[in-house]
Amino acid sequence: MNAEIITIGDELISGSVLDTNASFLAGSLRAIGVEVTWMTSVGDDESNIKDSLLSALERSDVVIVTGGLGPTPDDITAEAAAKTFGRELVLNKEALNRIKELFSGRGLEMTPNNEKQALIPAKAKLITNLVGTACGFALREKGKLIFFLPGVPKELARMTDNSVIPILQRENRELVKFKTATLKVFGLSESKIADLIRDIVERSEPAKISFLPNYPENHIKITARGINDQEAIKIVSKTADGIAEQLGDYVFGRDNQTLEGVVGDLLRSNDHTIAVAESCTGGLISQRLTNIPGSSDYMKRGIVVYSNEAKVDLLHVPAHLIDRFGAVSADVAERMAEGAREFGKTDLGLGITGIAGPGGGTPEKPVGLVFISLADEKGTVVKSYNFRGDRTQVRLVTSETALDLVRRYYLNV
Ligand code: AMP
Ligand code: MG
Repeated sequence: MNAEIITIGDELISGSVLDTNASFLAGSLRAIGVEVTWMTSVGDDESNIKDSLLSALERSDVVIVTGGLGPTPDDITAEAAAKTFGRELVLNKEALNRIKELFSGRGLEMTPNNEKQALIPAKAKLITNLVGTACGFALREKGKLIFFLPGVPKELARMTDNSVIPILQRENRELVKFKTATLKVFGLSESKIADLIRDIVERSEPAKISFLPNYPENHIKITARGINDQEAIKIVSKTADGIAEQLGDYVFGRDNQTLEGVVGDLLRSNDHTIAVAESCTGGLISQRLTNIPGSSDYMKRGIVVYSNEAKVDLLHVPAHLIDRFGAVSADVAERMAEGAREFGKTDLGLGITGIAGPGGGTPEKPVGLVFISLADEKGTVVKSYNFRGDRTQVRLVTSETALDLVRRYYLNV
């Protein structure tokens, strides 16, 4: 069973509203094994709506349409549908009563405009909207099912979950199941990954492998379809495990895992604590670490030491080191990591100093030069990097690299 999504609204094709309905619907359909093969967006224009409906009907078993069911004259989807399929628009009593109830419940007076929302094509099945006034409907044409749903994302989501999905589950006799797994990689370029797993990709059938760059990470998505959940999961896991083995410790996590979450788990399982002293990242690493619920178990202190004085006052970085080597230097990064650890009374200390740009670079110390240091009770390591990109990218890749350094500390690699 394949499906097609048509989203209707001038605001979508003008670019002022992001089409979140299409991605929500595609995800919901895929979860029950219905493959989406087309997505179309069209403005509130009768002739274009008609064209898109007729094309969709030619090539798809199920069509889901959203938008254009509002009370105002610019919303014309119900009318366009009725004309396309040669049906009358008829007043649906149940829908009208529901709209009246909604208005009286809110202490508002119903306008004649809203009566328009109870008009649906003849022989269509009403799809109740429990959240808003626009009602949905479904009709069968040439043996295909077409759903019409409101554009308001919250209403669409409720009606999809409560009505559309159960109807399709009853209709879909193929019972094909989709499963996906995502591998998250840091430290390898997309082309390097493609090179390393070329053999697996070539022999991946029936699994499908897609590359999704997610700066500064690369995600690899593996999708498989099977006759049931177990079969699909088996295919996905086998392919994912093969890729993970090939890429080794560059794979830091899977599916919903984040690098900060993985680092947090490592700190917790080792019964360790951490403190972070940041200059060029301005608190980004602390922010990422503390995004994880329960991170207070291991994340003790985050200090932003942006000026030279702050580095001296708060971390006791010797002023002569800054004078001699500059604030962006290996020696200062080391002292920052050690200072964070000492003042935080933690097992680990991270120190980060660099030039995020766009200004501030020199031939000796260009934009993107970053020093990251990690201190434990045995000693301190420091690494230098030359990152590329704009300010946001440099800060992001710096935070990622610092977190990855902690992860690798526990992997001993
Ligand atoms: P409508 O059902 O056409 O009256 O749409 C009502 C509102 O829902 C619009 O003004 C948009 O803000 C929003 N909306 C409509 N279609 C979409 C869509 N495909 N994705 C996200 N929001 C939408
Ligand atoms: Mg609209």
